[in-house]
Amino acid sequence: MTHNIFWFRNNLRLEDNHALNECIKKSQKISFIYIINSNLRDIKNNLTSKDKFIIQGLLNLKTNLNKRGHRLHIFQGEPRQVFNQISELNSFDEIYCEMIIAPYEKREVSLVDKKINCIWDSSLIDLDDLPCAPTKIPDTFTTFRNMVEKNLVVAEPLCLPAIPESISIIGLDEFELPSVSESKFIGSVDFLNNYSICEYGAQSFVDDYFKDNKASNYKITRNELSGRDFSTKFSVWLSQGFISARQLYKKLKRYESTRGANDSTYWIFFELLWRDYFRFLHFKYGENLYFKYGLKNSKINRIDHEMTLEKLECGKTHSSFMNAAIRELMQSGFLSNRMRQILASYIIFDLYTDWRVGADFYQKYLIDFDIYSNQGNWLYIAGYGTDPRGGRRFNVIKQKNTYDLTNEYEMRWNEME
Ligand SMILES: Cc1cc2nc3c(=O)[nH]c(=O)nc-3n(C[C@H](O)[C@H](O)[C@H](O)COP(=O)(O)OP(=O)(O)OC[C@H]3O[C@@H](n4cnc5c(N)ncnc54)[C@H](O)[C@@H]3O)c2cc1C
Repeated sequence: MTHNIFWFRNNLRLEDNHALNECIKKSQKISFIYIINSNLRDIKNNLTSKDKFIIQGLLNLKTNLNKRGHRLHIFQGEPRQVFNQISELNSFDEIYCEMIIAPYEKREVSLVDKKINCIWDSSLIDLDDLPCAPTKIPDTFTTFRNMVEKNLVVAEPLCLPAIPESISIIGLDEFELPSVSESKFIGSVDFLNNYSICEYGAQSFVDDYFKDNKASNYKITRNELSGRDFSTKFSVWLSQGFISARQLYKKLKRYESTRGANDSTYWIFFELLWRDYFRFLHFKYGENLYFKYGLKNSKINRIDHEMTLEKLECGKTHSSFMNAAIRELMQSGFLSNRMRQILASYIIFDLYTDWRVGADFYQKYLIDFDIYSNQGNWLYIAGYGTDPRGGRRFNVIKQKNTYDLTNEYEMRWNEME
């Protein structure tokens, strides 16, 4: 009897889950676990909106598995230590999980003593459907996009096969998730109060998005600063894998076939390709992407100020526009793409800060935090990545005059101090 463990990581769904399907195929008995690792701070106190989002997602996944007669065990600790403790009292064969190729997550897996099968799942285009090996993708986004668009293959989403009998894990204390039922999401992600945070909520949200003509105007509205509808908000559901990029793409294509394709619907796909591009760059450049000067490592001479995460969190910079953005990020867990760019540029070029401090700041608070997209965009703005144009410095005053001339945004968030 093969008994395997399925370890949920950033793929909290049952449908179209390549790693899970593979595990099911290879198992006669199965156990489901999730590990809250030490990367997460003390998540019982001072919960951010991001923490609450993940906790609700885990509670719902637990319930959804229960309804099918299975159990999700939630443990806290380093994966190596958790799997060692599990194997002291439970006999199992192998572990299956989603492959995450960012350095920290890779190392986490490499330290596990048991046989572990990591299966790539998080991109729109599967590795096998790329025209070249991911380690050989072109450096510039446009060349990458042209290459994949020439012969585009997006796999059909997979269905969930019958799950084999599951086995409970014994002998370990489970992590008790704190209650988050009272808390409300605010700002551009207040819609989360109306959806169940799980794969079914994600499906309903995306179906609702495509019910009217928002997608047909996306390219016109996508640079706005706040609100529910100016951009898709798909990132929120993608970040923890409540929906796959393949499932999204299918819904986008269905919309185009009934309502018509235009520049805006194409642009949603275009942005999903950026998401893939930043993922695949990790295969090519690995941990170099996380160096202070990224891929330009030895050629830069710049002195940074002693800016820390704690100082950023105070939200007391010289720009009240930027302080408003800091407040929006910390309180709501979301920033528009435009504001992410302006604030990142401000942190790097006006506050003379190591881009990695800013990236940590976003990592701590963004509900839709995604290691690849966050790293990729920060390095891109800093100008230490693959972009031939160098860094992207934004003039904060000009941006304020273009996007918040009425002062509405600034007042709204600064009033919440
Ligand atoms: C400094 C900085 C940090 C960022 N950190 C993250 C992050 O942690 N997680 C994250 O998902 N996105 C990140 N982004 C990218 C982008 O800002 C968000 O994906 C987008 O704002 C999410 O809102 P949306 O889903 O409404 O996007 P839409 O504009 O509706 O785009 C549709 C989808 O395309 C993808 N996408 C759009 N823009 C980008 C982009 N620039 N890079 C990669 N994918 C993109 C996302 O999956 C998004 O859901 C970051 C951008 C910057 C400038």
